[in-house]
Amino acid sequence: MNAAVSPANAPSSEPPDRGPQRTPNGAAGALGRTRRDYSMFDAEITGQMFNMRLLTRLLRWLRPYRSTIVVSLLLVVLSAALKIMLPLITSVVVMDHLLMGGTGGRGVDFGLVALTDRIAASTGFTPLIVAAGMYLLFLIAESATGHWHRMTLIRAIVSGLRDMRKDLFAHLETRPSSFFDRVAVGRVMTRVTNDVEALYEMLRGLGQLFGDFLPFFVALFLMFAISPKITLILLCALPVLATTTYFFRSRSRYLFRMVRQTVSQLNQNLQENLAGLTVVQISGRQQRNLERYTRINDSNRAYETKSMRLETLYGAFNDSVSHIAIACIIYFGGGEIVQKELTLGGVFLFTRYLDMLFLPIVELGLQLNVMFRAMASGERIFQALDWDEAIHEPNDPVALPARLRGELSLRGLNFAYDRDVPILRNVSFEIHGGEKLAIVGPTGSGKSTIIRLLGRFYDFEDGMLFLDGIDLNRIHSHELRKRIGVVLQDFHIFSGTIYDNIALGDPRITRERAIEAAKTVNAHGFISAQPKGYDTELAERGGNLSQGQRQLLAFARVLAADPEILVLDEATASIDTETELLIQDALRKLTAGRTSILIAHRLQTIQEADRVLVLHQGEVAEIGTHAELLAMKGLYYTLHTLQFQNMDEQIQDATP
Ligand code: ADP
Repeated sequence: MNAAVSPANAPSSEPPDRGPQRTPNGAAGALGRTRRDYSMFDAEITGQMFNMRLLTRLLRWLRPYRSTIVVSLLLVVLSAALKIMLPLITSVVVMDHLLMGGTGGRGVDFGLVALTDRIAASTGFTPLIVAAGMYLLFLIAESATGHWHRMTLIRAIVSGLRDMRKDLFAHLETRPSSFFDRVAVGRVMTRVTNDVEALYEMLRGLGQLFGDFLPFFVALFLMFAISPKITLILLCALPVLATTTYFFRSRSRYLFRMVRQTVSQLNQNLQENLAGLTVVQISGRQQRNLERYTRINDSNRAYETKSMRLETLYGAFNDSVSHIAIACIIYFGGGEIVQKELTLGGVFLFTRYLDMLFLPIVELGLQLNVMFRAMASGERIFQALDWDEAIHEPNDPVALPARLRGELSLRGLNFAYDRDVPILRNVSFEIHGGEKLAIVGPTGSGKSTIIRLLGRFYDFEDGMLFLDGIDLNRIHSHELRKRIGVVLQDFHIFSGTIYDNIALGDPRITRERAIEAAKTVNAHGFISAQPKGYDTELAERGGNLSQGQRQLLAFARVLAADPEILVLDEATASIDTETELLIQDALRKLTAGRTSILIAHRLQTIQEADRVLVLHQGEVAEIGTHAELLAMKGLYYTLHTLQFQNMDEQIQDATP
């Protein structure tokens, strides 16, 4: 295992510490929510350099593109062969054969000498022109194959990673709310963007290494054939280069990390200070903040300097090794020339092949750091992909009738987000088809939690929930969510047009139906007033809509979907009286004849409800009509007098 995060944390390997429970009617209950360790999503994973298991798994995404990869590898072989040939033309053909009159370089000219002579004889060109032409041709072919190799490889990699990103998105998108309660969205975004990017860098690097190592071995083979002595002397440099590269890269990895860290601290510090500039100026913290900024700035400079110094030193070291190697080639090669064991072209060939010998080692060092980062990224991506937390879905879901009556029944519902903190306690109540129930209660009493359970955003373990007499846990969540329309306080706007935001991609919701819904909920007026009507692009987060308009749009969205049950968390934001009246009117139309559960904040909504349920610390404290509850002089009465004592008159004043 390569990660600092141990496999014991992996969700799939963790046994549930409370077994699944069965609901009374025998349906598989929801069930067995396990205590999970979410900390891994925050932990920095420090990976090992190489992890075969991870790489094998990664390669699965490339499998559909294997033919492209095979083509790419063939191209790199061709490119490597041409790379090897080029120095042979200059040294063996031109120098040894044409200039010095030799017959070819110890059989390692791959027939180039004979080929040059034959072409010269048949075309009438001088052999030197033929050799130059051949050199140019090979050079162009080498560049072209190299280019195609890189292009095909990159195409395969980006296609594979696109699929992976899609799988990751699809997986994360289907995780339940309980997952996103615990895991910061920023972390999840890092998985989808940066981590996949790191994998791209690594796979591209591996392709590059393959392209570098092929000429390495061929060059080594040829060098041995020409002069084993000089080759062995040059090989002595490789371990020195490799060791130095390894140590240099380890150190530079640390320094790069520190540079990145200090840069992000600088950004964070700057952002905090600028965003809160007024507070900074009022509290006269400028000097102190400047000192803090300067401290981080200084340490950033120190790491940058160290990192640059190391980089320069390493470059100088590499150059020195190359120069010493060339000196060795000249010295020993010269000796061999005198003893007629080596030709001048042979010595020249050695100097040209030297790069092919040393470059892969330097490149390997460079890829080492990329690999480190990518292995950690891969580990993180797979952790996310393996995170199997999901809402319980029934094995044999009940098919719902075309239209439900909309009766809801909650029986002895207990629920907790965290095991030890009960939120709902023994909640039981019934709602008849078409009834309007307002839920009121202090903040934190569990009102929204009831909504979340109704929409099956969380599993519950204890208690039962029935829809038209059917256990909610036996209905597939997709099916259920078509029947229960939820309007939350924060209306989420997706990038797209107003129509897109009403229809949400549901093919049943035609343009006419969307317009009809918008007209019913009083949204048509402001939509028509937009520059492009229903085709107006909505800015992200709905910046170009007012709070009230967003609310009306949310109503249009839910009305267009026409669910049998409406669940609404009424917006608390204060809205101008005119829009407020439009909203109340829209709400009346929206709830007409539809079972509705309203987390009500406005007196009018409460008064218009058939019954009111008062929730207190997760328990049903009171339930009855507005008048009944007032007459009881209990909690509702107190809440009502505290919250709405002045509002009755206001509402009455505002109502035409
Ligand atoms: P209300 O809607 O009545 O204001 P909620 O149902 O939102 O109350 O919350 C009830 C309690 O549950 C609160 O104490 C709140 O802190 C807690 N709570 C709400 N959501 C979560 C969550 N996702 N994870 C843990 N606790 C939560």
